[in-house]
Order: sequence, then C-alpha cells, then structure tokens
Amino acid sequence: LKTFAGQAAIAVENVLLHRQAQRLSLTDPLTGLWNYRFMQTSLRREAERVRRYQRPSALLAIDLDRFKAVNDTYGHPVGDQVLVELSRRVTGQIREVDLAFRHGGEEFMVLLPETDAAGGAAVAERLGRAVADRPFKVSDGGSGLELNITVSVGIAVMGEHADTAAGALAAADEALYAAKAAGRDTWRIATS
Ligand code: GH3
Ligand code: MG
Ligand code: MG
Repeated sequence: LKTFAGQAAIAVENVLLHRQAQRLSLTDPLTGLWNYRFMQTSLRREAERVRRYQRPSALLAIDLDRFKAVNDTYGHPVGDQVLVELSRRVTGQIREVDLAFRHGGEEFMVLLPETDAAGGAAVAERLGRAVADRPFKVSDGGSGLELNITVSVGIAVMGEHADTAAGALAAADEALYAAKAAGRDTWRIATS
C-alpha cells in the first residue's frame, strides 16, 4: 500500500507540475511536450551542469522523414495527428529524467542527462524502431488511415561535441542532416 501511495503521489505531482507548466507557457499545446522556450532554458542549465561536473549529456534531434508529403497528401490536420502520435512514442521510449521538446514544426529534441554517445545511439535506435515498426493510425474525416512513418535522428554529446547549448543544438542538427543524407530512417552521431 505504501508503494502504491508513493507512486500515486508522484503521479499526482507530475500532473500538477504539468498543469503549472502549461500555465507558464512552457509546453506545446498540440503535443503537450516541452516547448522551444523551455528547451532553451533546459539546455543552458544542462550545459552548465556538464561543464561543472564533467558528465556527458546527450542531445537527440529528431525530424520526420518526408513529412511534407503527408501534409500534401492527407492535409494538415492528419499531419498534426501524426505529430501527436510521434510525441507519444517518443515519450514512451525515454526515462523520467529525460526531457522531450518540440523544437518547432516537425522537429523534436530529446535531452538525456548522464548519457554518452553510445547511450544516445541506443535510445535513437529504439526510438526509430518504435516509430517505424507500427503504422500510425490517424483519421481523415470519417475514415481511418494507417501511415508508415519514419524519423531521422542526429546525436550530439555535451562535453564531447559541444560545450554550450547553442553548440550542442548545431552539432545535433548537423548529425541529423547526415542521417537524412544517408537515406533517412536512421541515426548519426556528430563528428567534430
Ligand atoms: P525531410 O525528410 O528532408 O525532413 O523531408 P520533410 O518533407 O519532412 O522536410 P521539410 O523540411 O521539407 O518539410 C517539413 C514539413 O513539415 C513542412 C510542413 O508541411 C510540415 N510541418 C511543419 N510544421 C508542421 C505542423 O505543425 N503541422 C503539420 N501538420 N505539418 C507541419
Ligand atoms: Mg524539418
Ligand atoms: Mg522532415
């Protein structure tokens, strides 16, 4: 009973925190993920922590593959449903201490504290599978659709590829670009 009460308390606390975050405009209304503004704050704080304690922290840049085609074929509302389902799958693959952000549009960022490049790659691999393995069920007016969706992921490690929030974002973006160039539905780690 104690264990249950403890878990329930944490769950309630999480719900309250999330409500508070919504009031403070730190979450994205469509997906419920943390927004760009909170991402900037979190990345700066994390960069500081990484510098101080010399611990790695992985940043994943996630971008839907050929998403424009989904919008062009089925319309923006269907595209939005894909974004919502993607957010669910992303949060389903990460830990309580990890943070998922909507960077903007169809681009997402995940911050994995205490995680090196190998750990980031493991999450990216798992995430990619969680997206590609099962079609996305969306509704187009009255009828249901099943869409095959994939993502590309770029990985950068604070303390290894960059020392600042902006540097980590740029490095993750560059790695993402490499994943796209490699044919999409895959991940790449930053090089420099
Ligand atoms: P790539 O594999 O190179 O990423 O191709 P892409 O088509 O996903 O990339 P591109 O950057 O060319 O297009 C991104 C598209 O994402 C443009 C727009 O149609 C769509 N998009 C961006 N934001 C939103 C949004 O909030 N809702 C919806 N439904 N679509 C969005
Ligand atoms: Mg994009
Ligand atoms: Mg895209």
